[in-house]
Amino acid sequence: MKIAVDWDRCEANAACVRAAPEAFRLDDDDRLHLLVTDVPPELRPKVEKAVRDCPRGALSLLSPTER
Ligand code: SF4
Repeated sequence: MKIAVDWDRCEANAACVRAAPEAFRLDDDDRLHLLVTDVPPELRPKVEKAVRDCPRGALSLLSPTER
């Protein structure tokens, strides 16, 4: 699975970083960075929580066929 970000929706409030710090990082300029491209299975629950927690609905998970 891959993480997709709707950058127009993201307001850098870091909810995803709190849910899955292994996958998301905010830099000093409040820009969001993805730390993983393919989400490893062990990280998937945290990333799914980040998708749910994003108050802007900016995150989604894509299966390989949706790339
Ligand atoms: S939780 Fe959503 S709005 Fe907040 S930084 Fe992450 S992707 Fe952006």
